[in-house]
Amino acid sequence: MNIEKNVVVAIDYTLSDNDGVVIDTSTGREPLKYLHGTGALIPGLEKELEGKVVGDKLDVAIKPEEGYGMRNEEMLQTVPREHFGHVPDLQAGMQFQANSEQGPVMVTIVKVDEKQVMVDGNHPLAGVVLNFKVEVKEVRAATEDELSHGHVHGEGGAH
Ligand code: ZN
Repeated sequence: MNIEKNVVVAIDYTLSDNDGVVIDTSTGREPLKYLHGTGALIPGLEKELEGKVVGDKLDVAIKPEEGYGMRNEEMLQTVPREHFGHVPDLQAGMQFQANSEQGPVMVTIVKVDEKQVMVDGNHPLAGVVLNFKVEVKEVRAATEDELSHGHVHGEGGAH
């Protein structure tokens, strides 16, 4: 069975940046299962997996445009320190959920001083080339339930 829209796929993967630093990996965990063609993975990786079969191995570099997008410097904002008044020990690198006109977004604290906090609304992997090593472990038809829910279920239909 080939990977195509609406089949359930399980992959082992390792994601690293261009310096070889591992960002994420399924090593030591269960393979990642997802419903293909539903936007569960970044577009570039879904495209590379299209048509593949169990046992296929990929070693691909996904450009930011097909990954988490380019960085947008307008998403760097400075807000009053009071906005984080409830957070003890506020530091660069911390991440928070914030509300934007486009809905909830994750923001990362870039800089903190007594009066102001600089936050970055870019995805932490925006602008990063994503190097994926992938092995296809399983490809199967989705169940009716999985198709209607738009996601993969576990053994016996568990969520
Ligand atoms: Zn479900």
